[in-house]
Formats: sequence, structure tokens, C-alpha cells
Amino acid sequence: MDSPVSATGRQFGGARRRLVAELQEKGITDLAVLRAFDLTPRHLFVPTGVQHRAYEDSSLPIGNAQTISQPSVHARYLQTLSLQGTERVLEIGTGSGYQTVLLSHLAAQVFSVERIGPLLERARAAIGKSAATNVSLQLGDGTHGWAAYAPYDAILVSAASPDVPQPLLDQLADGGRLLVPVGGREEQQLLMITRSGTAYSRTELAPVRFVPLVGDHGWTE
Ligand code: SAH
Repeated sequence: MDSPVSATGRQFGGARRRLVAELQEKGITDLAVLRAFDLTPRHLFVPTGVQHRAYEDSSLPIGNAQTISQPSVHARYLQTLSLQGTERVLEIGTGSGYQTVLLSHLAAQVFSVERIGPLLERARAAIGKSAATNVSLQLGDGTHGWAAYAPYDAILVSAASPDVPQPLLDQLADGGRLLVPVGGREEQQLLMITRSGTAYSRTELAPVRFVPLVGDHGWTE
């Protein structure tokens, strides 16, 4: 399935293919993940002033003191989840909406919560242009999850928390997986938590640096 030419932007096609090749060189082997990067026009998710850098493997400012993550960070995150295409996924921290659209190519339904209104509205516009139809967005404090559509087969938290927010554990489906950076304000461990009935197992995946998760079950402002 091809994205519409207007959204894909012909002039960015070569740059996007080079990014996909770079991700492969950096150890991304999951073909569904690589395809999602090939289908997602990252230049629509960054401010026009940095659009010429949209397909570099680097994080970029998106306004409101937030950043769009480095593509290889998203790619490792998504490869770790090994989604099959049938899942309901909850994303906390929509930001630019770029990862939201990557997820839309990898899962059945994507629910995403963002606390900063202007960011969510820009994300909504960019997601619309990228023609994803299986995405629902909500403005609010994502440390409460999004109870209306729970349970979720996978939950991804794109901001760092001092502890794992309890509502997210409660909203995880049996067999579901939660990826969340937990630790201090400067450095965290990326945790993968897997639910089996009422038991939760935790694995530490890697040291990471994310912006703070601000909310009732996260950091105070
Ligand atoms: N994956 C995003 C990265 C966004 S940075 C992208 O590719 O663009 C993390 C985002 O989490 C920021 O937009 C920030 O505003 C948001 N955030 C922080 N705390 C939040 C909370 N409690 N609920 C929802 N979003 C939150």
C-alpha cells in the first residue's frame, strides 16, 4: 500500500529510503518495522525550519520544549514489541505524532494521549495528511491511561516516569507488554513489563534519556 504522493513528498523519497537503509545497518531487521518507516513521511511531523533534516537519524525540536525522538530509537522500541498487526496499542506522549503513524502501520488500532494542546493539534493535522485511519487521539494526562478503550495489547510510554504508573498496569491486557522509561529526571532504564494474569514480569532493556512524563502518576511540573 502506497501513501498518497502529496503526503509522501516526491522530493523526500530518496532521503527516506536512505534512512531505512541506515536503520538496517544499525541492526533493525524486522521487515514490518522497516516498511513502516518507508511508509511514514517524517518531514510532515517536524517544523518547516528543520524539514531538510527530517530523514537524518537525529532527534529534532518540535516546539513547546519537546522533541521528536531519533528514528533509530523509535525503531528499536518498535522492534522490541514485535507487533503482529492485530493489536490494540496505547501510546502515551503523542508529541509530533510520528511514532503514532509508525504504529498505525504495525497494529490494528492506535490510541494516543498527549497533554500539550498545541502539540496534539499539530500532530492531528500531520496524522491526517499521512492518511492513517486507525488512530484515535486524546488530550489529557496519559499517566491515567485511556480507560475507555482498555485493555491494550501493548502500551508505549514516550516520556520518562519516576515509577510505572499504576493505571497503565491495570489497562494492560493479559499477555500484554508495556514499554516505559523509569528512573530519574536525567537518566532512566527502559523497562518492558509483561502481564500474565495478575502477575507482572519486568525486564530492563537499556539505559535511555527521555523528556519527563508530567502528570498525577508521573513527575510534577
Ligand atoms: N514519540 C514522540 C515523542 C514525544 S516527546 C514523537 O515522536 O514525536 C514526549 C511527549 O510526551 C511530549 O509531547 C510530552 O508533552 C508528552 N507527555 C509528557 N507527559 C505526558 C502525560 N502525562 N500525558 C501525555 N503526554 C505526556
